[in-house]
Amino acid sequence: MNLVFLGPPGAGKGTIASQAKTHYDIPHISTGDLFRNNIKNETELGKQVKAILASGNLVPDSVTIAMVKDRLSEDDAKKGFILDGFPRTIAQAEALKEMTGLDAVVNFVLDREDIVKRLSGRRVCKSTGKTYHIIYSPPKVEGIDDETGESLIQRDDDKEEAIINRLAVYDKQTEPLIAYYREKGILIDIDAKPAPEEVFASMVKLLQ
Ligand code: ADP
Ligand code: ADP
Ligand code: ADP
Repeated sequence: MNLVFLGPPGAGKGTIASQAKTHYDIPHISTGDLFRNNIKNETELGKQVKAILASGNLVPDSVTIAMVKDRLSEDDAKKGFILDGFPRTIAQAEALKEMTGLDAVVNFVLDREDIVKRLSGRRVCKSTGKTYHIIYSPPKVEGIDDETGESLIQRDDDKEEAIINRLAVYDKQTEPLIAYYREKGILIDIDAKPAPEEVFASMVKLLQ
């Protein structure tokens, strides 16, 4: 199954992808995670994109497309994939069309108020990327990752200024993809407001 998860930042795409990758036995390819891993490992790419991610702007299409093309050419993506956070522009969608076919584009629908609540309460473990929420999905011990025991952090781009910019970037550059994929007849709208288990179950049903 070749899937794209589309939707505003904070809609729960990564959370649902963690469940879906096990269910469908396909890799979860998050371009945000790929960039953050490069930053953490201080690679050339990481140095190039660090300031862009902190600001909430988009990495240039050429850089992003090349990275995704590489990742999709790996063996594990032959059996299918969940692309989470890509494409984010029409140019990226056009490039993806040249790389592979898609079975469905899942559009996570969530109102602005909930988006901001989810983003501002998100906390992550820096070494594993595991995601929590201070209210909706807290760790067993406040501020500490359940598995590694490390302190949880707030992503720079989850701070208020960057959130405002990211939502503007989404509206301008990514939201047009909804119409783009709807026109192609492969868009599936999912109500992202209920609890993750419920969002996941309704997605699986719609993908049958
Ligand atoms: P995205 O990948 O779309 O940016 P995440 O999966 O990282 O979104 O979720 C954003 C935040 O909202 C995280 O803190 C996560 O724990 C929380 N979250 C995700 N799904 C839900 C949900 N269905 N209900 C409540 N909170 C959620
Ligand atoms: P979110 O929580 O907003 O879903 P992601 O983890 O998907 O965030 O992305 C974090 C950042 O990584 C983005 O704000 C952007 O700077 C960069 N990024 C991720 N995917 C793309 C993409 N497809 N094109 C350009 N930049 C991207
Ligand atoms: P997934 O979310 O794909 O199921 P995991 O459950 O293993 O993956 O980890 C949770 C999150 O951490 C995912 O968003 C995943 O991409 C990310 N992640 C996994 N390993 C690393 C790592 N070494 N560095 C940064 N992020 C990671």
